[in-house]
Amino acid sequence: MNAEQIELVYAMENFISKENTISEKIHLSNKAIDLLTNQMVNKHKYNFPTNISELINFMKTETMDTYLGDDFPSEPFINYNLEVNEYILEETKEKDEKEKVQKIMKKLLDCCREKYSEQNDSYWDYEYREARKFISNTYLIENTTLDTNLYSIFSNETIKMIQDMYIPRNISDEKLIICPVCGKPLNFTNEKGSCTEICKYYRVKDKLDDITKIINPKNKYVELSEGIYKYVLLPNIGEIKIYEKLVAKFKDLEVTLYPNIDEFDISISNGDICINLDVKDHTNPSSLAKNLKENSNLSKFNKDKYCFLVIPDHRVEIYKKNNSKNYMNELNKTFQNEEIDIYSLQEKNLIKKIEEILGVS
Ligand SMILES: [Zn+2]
Repeated sequence: MNAEQIELVYAMENFISKENTISEKIHLSNKAIDLLTNQMVNKHKYNFPTNISELINFMKTETMDTYLGDDFPSEPFINYNLEVNEYILEETKEKDEKEKVQKIMKKLLDCCREKYSEQNDSYWDYEYREARKFISNTYLIENTTLDTNLYSIFSNETIKMIQDMYIPRNISDEKLIICPVCGKPLNFTNEKGSCTEICKYYRVKDKLDDITKIINPKNKYVELSEGIYKYVLLPNIGEIKIYEKLVAKFKDLEVTLYPNIDEFDISISNGDICINLDVKDHTNPSSLAKNLKENSNLSKFNKDKYCFLVIPDHRVEIYKKNNSKNYMNELNKTFQNEEIDIYSLQEKNLIKKIEEILGVS
């Protein structure tokens, strides 16, 4: 499933299955109808529902392959008892659409790893790195430009997966104000042009101005789906800033982003000793600890090797502002309680640490 299909499937499933108040039900049905309308108009189909009762009727009678695509069964979304189709139940096991979309990135990683080991060709290490950089640098883009850019760099399989991460975006303005950190158009109607806390931190620190982008509303644009934005682009900001800082500081050392197809986030080597860094940008120490236990191979942080967990400065600052506490102290306490034995440090102490270990300055 691509991001657009995932959004629609979750909207329809939530509308039917979630126990909500009437006003929430109406909100969910509107969301499903909007997404359905977009998807069907793009396919030149105009029998889309326009209200709740039409939506329910549509879901009961129209077979999914006609509006969701040929990969879907030729069966309705729900039966006459309003029970959701088995195939959909199987496909929506992730908590929400963001978590489901994020799996496309995991698929890309697995695919590059597989090809790397099959062909023993380090090209796939390069392709993975470039794919991740591309996504992080491309929030909003004209659809044809996306395709042109992708075809000039990537293999067909990677192209398909990156395309799957984007959803169509209707734009009516000719001038957009873009966040200089993440690339997302800023919404001035209700938030006075603010973006995420991470973006705010770098806008102030690096004195960045908003970017004005002139666009042609007649052209088709796509934007990164929310799940990829939240789970890939935003965490990458800290990783890439730290990587760039190390490249600028240690010109004689080999600094690599996502070495060995994402075994770590950054490695830095003088030829004899290699230091590996994992940058983790979680809102709070307990969610970081939980994620480490669930998803990471903790043994890779072997204390005999030089493997460090790095917390970006922006996270420590944001945590202090919101909780009046020191992130690093809290993290150490959490690690002790959870019996996680990993060496962690804050970004601001990283350069000194590397200089000590590698004997450079
Ligand atoms: Zn931003």
